[in-house]
Amino acid sequence: MMVHYCQTKTGLTDPANTILFYRLGDFYEMFFEDATLVSKELELTLTGKDCGMEDRAPMCGIPYHAAEGYINRLVENGHKVAICEQMEDPKQAKGMVKREVIRVVTPGTTLIPQGLDETKNNYIMSIVCMEGCFGISTADISTGQCLVTEMDKPRRLVDEITKFMPAEIICNQSFLLCGIDVEDLRTRLHICVNALEDWYFDDDICRRTLQEQFHAATMEGLGIADYNCGTIAAGALFQYLHETQKSDLSHMNSITPYVTDKYMLIDSSSRRNLELVETLREKQKRGSLLWVLDKTRTAMGARLLRSYVEQPLIDEDEINARLDAVEALTGQAMIREEIREYLRPVYDLERLVGRISYQSANPRDLIAFKSSLQMLPYIKQLLNSFAGGALAQIQEDLDPLEDLYQLVDAAIVDDPPYLMRDGGMIKDGYNEMVDNYRHAKTEGKQWLSELEASEREKTGIKNMKVKYNKVFGYYLEVTNSFKDLVPDYYTRKQTLTNAERYITPRLKELEDTILGAEDKLYALEYDLFCTVRDTVAGEAERIQRTAQALARLDVYASLSYVAEHNHYVRPKLNSRGKIDIKDGRHPVVEKMIPNDMFIANDTLLDNGDHRVSVITGPNMAGKSTYMRQTALIVLMAQIGSFVPASKANIGIVDRIFTRVGASDDLASGQSTFMVEMTEVANILRNATSNSLLILDEIGRGTSTFDGLSIAWAVIEHVANPKLLGAKTLFATHYHELTELEGKLPGVHNYCIAVKEKGDDIVFLRKIVQGGADKSYGIQVARLAGVPESVLSRAQELVEQLSDADITAAVKDLTMQKKPKAKPVHYDEVDMAQMSLFDTVQDDDIIKELSELDISNMTPMDALNTLYRFQGKV
Ligand code: ADP
Repeated sequence: MMVHYCQTKTGLTDPANTILFYRLGDFYEMFFEDATLVSKELELTLTGKDCGMEDRAPMCGIPYHAAEGYINRLVENGHKVAICEQMEDPKQAKGMVKREVIRVVTPGTTLIPQGLDETKNNYIMSIVCMEGCFGISTADISTGQCLVTEMDKPRRLVDEITKFMPAEIICNQSFLLCGIDVEDLRTRLHICVNALEDWYFDDDICRRTLQEQFHAATMEGLGIADYNCGTIAAGALFQYLHETQKSDLSHMNSITPYVTDKYMLIDSSSRRNLELVETLREKQKRGSLLWVLDKTRTAMGARLLRSYVEQPLIDEDEINARLDAVEALTGQAMIREEIREYLRPVYDLERLVGRISYQSANPRDLIAFKSSLQMLPYIKQLLNSFAGGALAQIQEDLDPLEDLYQLVDAAIVDDPPYLMRDGGMIKDGYNEMVDNYRHAKTEGKQWLSELEASEREKTGIKNMKVKYNKVFGYYLEVTNSFKDLVPDYYTRKQTLTNAERYITPRLKELEDTILGAEDKLYALEYDLFCTVRDTVAGEAERIQRTAQALARLDVYASLSYVAEHNHYVRPKLNSRGKIDIKDGRHPVVEKMIPNDMFIANDTLLDNGDHRVSVITGPNMAGKSTYMRQTALIVLMAQIGSFVPASKANIGIVDRIFTRVGASDDLASGQSTFMVEMTEVANILRNATSNSLLILDEIGRGTSTFDGLSIAWAVIEHVANPKLLGAKTLFATHYHELTELEGKLPGVHNYCIAVKEKGDDIVFLRKIVQGGADKSYGIQVARLAGVPESVLSRAQELVEQLSDADITAAVKDLTMQKKPKAKPVHYDEVDMAQMSLFDTVQDDDIIKELSELDISNMTPMDALNTLYRFQGKV
């Protein structure tokens, strides 16, 4: 056994990184390093086993029926687990039980329900890096989805990775050397990244693998002929999947090429900053855009909506098609709500197909499947109310799958047991043999006494009895006095002194039925169940098409529901680049603050006179909320959602970039300023004139003058159509930047209004034209609860520092391109002069104090002197 164990372990594709679960009776056992590792990670007791070597082999085990939970934990920790099963019944095995690896569970291929979040896809991504091109293939084997694309820039690839957030990446060696920080992917994003051997990426083998998988003669037939690198990525992916899943993956029956240019580009830090699917700090859905938009009723809808949010469109017609569907549903809210009611019980058909194809679906899954199908005719019927467009297409794609409904309904009982091996899952009347076995099991005794009675009648042997023993089974016993009446069709089995024992063909038949009934019943039920399951698996494509149609319907219905309840409007789209939002609101913040207290604001940006808005205003005034709200409204429009505004005309943007505050940069080990500048560099290099830029407090991470200069130069760059000319919202503390209005074309000043009330300020949250005149830092600090003594000291310092105001130098800057004199630097203000004694006005006291002869003073003298000093100040 140990020899076989070792052969199996070394025969794995990636033995060093794969834990082998070796089935021994009712346990999965692990040995050697695997045992040591697993015992630590799962806190299991480590024991030992004789293994023919000097030392005992470290060993630990888990009961087979609880394996899923353990496997799941290991996989979540980034391990792969190979499951080696007993392939025959140990009772019937001659010699050693045959064992085989039946599957390798990896983070990107797990199908364990506990390990899968039903509202998220679980992706595995295959990446090849070849001659300056990246081929990428992304798949979710739980739903059967498979995508292919290509790109040339490592940075774009990182964006693509963060868009899908795969659980696992497989790649060629060159990918590890292409400059992408693979360790960062592993540690920060928790992606399991492994390079495969070169032969996986062999052109011919990859093509052949795909042809076989998709039953296609050529790559043209698959629609991926133009994707050379992509084909190799997908080919390697399917080889890996076949090897780990040991299954034909028949539910993965299509491969979809896509171009990343089809979607709005959102780089990874903007994705995080805008909190699209999770919040920046807590990493939770609550508080994200998805949280507001997701009122879907099915797991399929939830996943699709998430992918819509993660990749907004840029094609006007496509966006309008979605908006049309949302509008149509909003116009018929009653029908929409009825549809949503019918969607509620619909099971995760996409993942079910995966489980069915893997033969891991149980009878309860089939019942859930059936009850989902029950809803389809109603939904299809309701969709008749919508003529044309995406909803009509859904109506067409929605196959009520009546045949499958009837099959499951006829075959499987409504409340099947959890365990398949104990039978009880096939309905009465579905199969005659099943009925007979059941009958035999329960009514066997009755049949025997019926037989006894009828044989007595036929033969006239009044005391004939049906009896049973272990050697002969059932027999008929006739006492010697009736021996002559025994008919020919009786076969004598045994002679006793005063009686004879016989069997008849009918009795044997009953015996077979009764004795074998239970075993046979269970086996037959299982076979029948498998046949039903296979029949359903054979219809995978129809189910998938229907599942996808339901997912789209669920998403549109959710967007429509949210639009209605949150008072959103349908955005108009334009390709002139004009963004004109009236009474825009932040979709998430407005949900977080009570009683409709959110103050709506307008936004106007275009490619001409309103390219750049410089926004000033104190901290907490609402600058970042305003800027993010603009980005989110544009993004929502391009998802196909209605938007929180009274009116919106959105010029489609190709990219959204945000540079917002110092986020969780500490974790990455870089200085805040370095991170900030890296992001600015990325934005300036990759933005286009059709992009939307949200820049918050650029230059804050360095000294005032450096920061101001950088911010200044950035505005000059983004505002200049010859250089970039992108629509930009730029929030800043540097009031000096308001000087740019009127001097740089396309730049306008805005500020968020506040009202002074004595020493305090009141935030009005309203954006108005013009620059803020003050920064109100001290008032905001007071609101935050900074002690009054510190505040009054700060106020003093402000007054003194204003002499060394940097605005003068900035004025110079706007008059002539380069200031001649070196401007006064904040650091150069003589801080020594502002020491504590500045506040003591009476020089006499100091003089007198320094002249005191303390050692010759009595305590009383000292006290009196102190009193005198106090009287003077
Ligand atoms: P800033 O970026 O100017 O420091 P924020 O945008 O972070 O300010 O806003 C501070 C807080 O003010 C937000 O958390 C939010 O609760 C509130 N707020 C911002 N804008 C509005 C608004 N338009 N209406 C109501 N409350 C708002």
